[in-house]
Amino acid sequence: MIETDEHKALRAAVAALGKRHGREYDRETLWAEAAKLGYLGVNLPEEYGGGGGGITELSIVLEELGAAGCPLLLMVVSPAICGTVIARFGTEEQKRHWLPGLADGSLTMAFGITEPDAGSNSHRITTTARRDPDSGDWILNGRKVFVSGVDITDATLIVGRTEDARTGKLKPCLFIVPRDTEGYGRRQIDMELSAVEKQFELTLDDVRLPADALVGDEDAGLLQLFAGLNPERIMTAAFGIGMGRFALARAIEYARDRTVWKTPIGAHQAIAHPLAQAHIDLEMARLMMQKAAYLYDAGDDVGAGEAANMAKYAAGEACVKAVDQSVHTLGGNGLTREFGLASLITAARVSRIAPVSREMILNYVSHQTLGLPKSY
Ligand SMILES: Cc1cc2nc3c(=O)[nH]c(=O)nc-3n(C[C@H](O)[C@H](O)[C@H](O)COP(=O)(O)OP(=O)(O)OC[C@H]3O[C@@H](n4cnc5c(N)ncnc54)[C@H](O)[C@@H]3O)c2cc1C
Repeated sequence: MIETDEHKALRAAVAALGKRHGREYDRETLWAEAAKLGYLGVNLPEEYGGGGGGITELSIVLEELGAAGCPLLLMVVSPAICGTVIARFGTEEQKRHWLPGLADGSLTMAFGITEPDAGSNSHRITTTARRDPDSGDWILNGRKVFVSGVDITDATLIVGRTEDARTGKLKPCLFIVPRDTEGYGRRQIDMELSAVEKQFELTLDDVRLPADALVGDEDAGLLQLFAGLNPERIMTAAFGIGMGRFALARAIEYARDRTVWKTPIGAHQAIAHPLAQAHIDLEMARLMMQKAAYLYDAGDDVGAGEAANMAKYAAGEACVKAVDQSVHTLGGNGLTREFGLASLITAARVSRIAPVSREMILNYVSHQTLGLPKSY
């Protein structure tokens, strides 16, 4: 059995919530309602106000909201990355401060790793953290780009590196930077995306943080980082699958009715088959997403890493194809505002690019899975 009865019930309940909000959703209202129903913290430990489930349950929530046309992008970062990292590696105080709020939606957190000169290559990040020897405070300097939702979250989990990391190897450290900290600036990036969550360029200019802003162990950074990045990939897969399903459902509905010859256009195999293929691709992507979530929740970080990459890849490709074919199915109406599909063409591309591009996943599978040599 791939999904338990509880999972099916969760799917149905979230789908009903999504249906009530629909494509014209108000993000804040939906966020608050989803939080109140326990959906946003479903993966967080019960003792800190969460639902005691895992990424399996959280990905069901995001997929179903997306399939209803109202995806909550911040779920990818706030409960999935930040909540997971704090729950697994935070101090008792950090857990008590952040987790109940992340679970009930009253606190939110963004996640910043990408830098102008370190997109796909996170080994090149230069945001540095230095300790003030007198106070024990951390001083952060650097720049980040494309960080989502910084304006609407209370803090950002920033990936930096310690200044004494001279080996050239990535030695990431994770810091909680509250939104209004002195020296922490943001500028909205002008994106051609019609999403409610905006992207920001961030500047960290001698940002002073207390010693307890560091999450986890300074020397176990990579392991801790991947504890958050695998859920991010799984959740991005859920985001893409949800969006693909939303577009496909609109196209199917249209193809059943629209008649330009003797039969509805859906009877023409040139229309029906690509929609059927899109459905198959989305289902296969979901299967891999479920595998990744299962492995992750079972504590198999290594196995989950490969599956999460594959799920993200499959979902990104399936989403782009489903949206493209859906727009095409509507003919001219596919590009009207009334039918609301055209804006998904750009939105769907996000699941191919972020948080790790399709090429980098192909690289990962080439090297890690197939054992092929590296070109870079
Ligand atoms: C809407 C949106 C939201 C985002 N939100 C966040 C966020 O909240 N936090 C955050 O930290 N980041 C975020 N990002 C950033 C995102 O993770 C990066 O855009 C992504 O990692 C790619 O990095 P890049 O844009 O620098 O592309 P680059 O690394 O410059 O890559 C450009 C192209 O080159 C290809 N390429 C690069 N290296 C190789 C190689 N070795 N082999 C083959 N091809 C290669 C890539 O696949 C890509 O197609 C977001 C991005 C978008 C678009």
